Amino acid sequence: MIQERSQALPPVRITDIVAAPLFGDSPPGGWSNEIKPTDSIHTLIAVHTDAGITGFGSVFTDGRLTEAAVTQLSSLFLGENALEPERVSEKLHQNSFWFGRGGTLTNAISGIDIALWDILGKVTGLPVSMLIGGRHCEKVQPYCSVLMEEPDAMGEVIVRFREQGFRAFKIGWGPFGRRDDPKLDEAIVAAARAELPECGKLFVDAGGSDAYWPNGLKWALRTADMLAAHDVGWFEEALVPDALEDFVTLRKTSRVPIAGGEVLTRRQSFLPFLVQGAFDIVQPDVTKVGGLSEQRRIAQTAQDFGVTYVGHGWNTALGLAADLQLAAALPNVELVEYIGGSAYVDGLLTEPFELDENGLLSIPAVPGLGVTLDPDKVARYSPKAEQLFSAEA
Ligand SMILES: [Mg+2]
Repeated sequence: MIQERSQALPPVRITDIVAAPLFGDSPPGGWSNEIKPTDSIHTLIAVHTDAGITGFGSVFTDGRLTEAAVTQLSSLFLGENALEPERVSEKLHQNSFWFGRGGTLTNAISGIDIALWDILGKVTGLPVSMLIGGRHCEKVQPYCSVLMEEPDAMGEVIVRFREQGFRAFKIGWGPFGRRDDPKLDEAIVAAARAELPECGKLFVDAGGSDAYWPNGLKWALRTADMLAAHDVGWFEEALVPDALEDFVTLRKTSRVPIAGGEVLTRRQSFLPFLVQGAFDIVQPDVTKVGGLSEQRRIAQTAQDFGVTYVGHGWNTALGLAADLQLAAALPNVELVEYIGGSAYVDGLLTEPFELDENGLLSIPAVPGLGVTLDPDKVARYSPKAEQLFSAEA
């Protein structure tokens, strides 16, 4: 019987993987060393197969690093069966330990893994969510993620995206915590809150993974009190990313839920944070952490620890598409991140994402990731768009 089943679905062999760097219109990251148009921080991935089916994924790192990683990994994936995403991705992880685990190679495997799940969905006729867990929900709330501005401008930003239909917002980085001025920090938060829609949600991201983040535990404790007074839903990256013990202390004390983990990669890195109780909300990035296979395991482990999972999604339309499938496949996922005004989220698909009248996104129920890249749109941002859509180009 088992033999019959495997014969029903013959292998689909990987013939090529193309990495296409995105350039020119990255939204500002709020980093102290701000992103320039000549910088690449995101890469699209195409996995081509001998069945003529192509899967697409996304990587959160410099496209030129991703290209090098794909070259380095090629002897491991060429000829592999694209219908076995988790096995193939784990093969890549296990055999690249010594070449920089957790960094570029892990980032690149993320995009490959997402593309392999896309292929499996296209071949089986199922949405990725059905393959990785099922459909707990059909819609999910996107929170609009924007950078912090001076108080006067902050309210205007919220109004702009509120008018587009968003009802949940995260404000982060910018001047917050960087001027040694608690009054300014509070004024920014108050300005955003004043413009929320009815029953709107507000989250705050200090951006402690910025270079030379100047604040420590005492600042975080004081600021958490201020945020509690403004009914903020979570306090993200309040400390430098590796301050495990201080995160544990902060979480125990803060009335506002503590969020973090966006710069961690590999499921193994999350364990000490979960075991020791560093976070109320864990935020792995599917385009960086190892892909859907890895993100699902992290999210499931987090949920077993009673920790909420909300994916970090400062990436691309394909990253968001992967987050949507995960939101359906896991129980109790209430939010996905949506960058406000990013060309790489709003400007790459044949059918852009659309909010419904309640500010929710539908989770595609068609095969694969359920979204389609527009080759002409991708060509605006990537010199390798042609190769992405045709292995022979
Ligand atoms: Mg963040």
